[in-house]
Amino acid sequence: MTSRGYVSQDVVVRFAPSPNGLLHLGHAYAACAAYDYTRERDGKLLLRIEDIDRVRSKPEYVEAILADLQWLGLEWDGAVIFQSERLDSYTKAAKRLREMGLLYPCFCSRSNMRAAQKKEGPHEGPDGPIYPGTCRRLDTVQADARRRLESHSWRLDVEKALQLADNLVWHDERLGDQQADPAALGDVVLVPKDMPVSYHLAVTLDDARDGITHIVRGADLFASTHIHRLLQALLDLPVPRYFHHPVLLDETGNKLSKSRDSASLAVLRKKGFDGKDLANRLRKNIFPVGITLAKD
Ligand code: GLU
Repeated sequence: MTSRGYVSQDVVVRFAPSPNGLLHLGHAYAACAAYDYTRERDGKLLLRIEDIDRVRSKPEYVEAILADLQWLGLEWDGAVIFQSERLDSYTKAAKRLREMGLLYPCFCSRSNMRAAQKKEGPHEGPDGPIYPGTCRRLDTVQADARRRLESHSWRLDVEKALQLADNLVWHDERLGDQQADPAALGDVVLVPKDMPVSYHLAVTLDDARDGITHIVRGADLFASTHIHRLLQALLDLPVPRYFHHPVLLDETGNKLSKSRDSASLAVLRKKGFDGKDLANRLRKNIFPVGITLAKD
């Protein structure tokens, strides 16, 4: 495991993998992007392990992440951060949003959501199907009674939240100035049924807590930034600058993914490939056969 001394106050970047599978070439590309961005600016790169999903996160994946980064020749600054050690802060923020009247309990299962979608017509957002708002329309007394008996998630009432937030702009260093449109993603879940917090809430809180000035990550997370920008406004958090880099695609034109078993870095590492050489090839956009960089 490697860790460097602290360098500059100005630029603070993070690499934030989820240890729910082995990292693949897409992650190596993202890690190099974050590392190079930081080093070119004499900044500080934090490593944050996003292990809020207690079922899918595994210690062996954390070990593999640390070994992969070392193998690629990528060092980070300071101690590794674990989201699982910060659950109280997420719960506190969710409570604050609930007290502001911006969250409502949702009792929908995947299957009744699909049924509602069928009935009301498909609503596709930039990040997948949009929640049709079924539980937003429940009256409060009814929802309170059900809440005591049924498992539920908590969703953000985006329309209501937008009444409290204005000037939702952010700057992407590759894609230019952006106007957030959180409604395009619908009422996202901030506290899932089976997890203490969602990705959206945890990542937004932690980027502020860790003093991240520049968020360097894949363009597959660009749509999420609409929601993160809204959460920053609601929770009085600073707005970092963004750099969404293009992601790697497989031979079918799909994003590389852990679930599709895209070749893992751990396998290449154990086969004796040279990780630093691989990182340098990725930096020059030289990819294995079948892998391409998305055009956006
Ligand atoms: N933990 C997220 C993932 O592995 C990335 C978070 C982010 O960069 O915002 O996909």
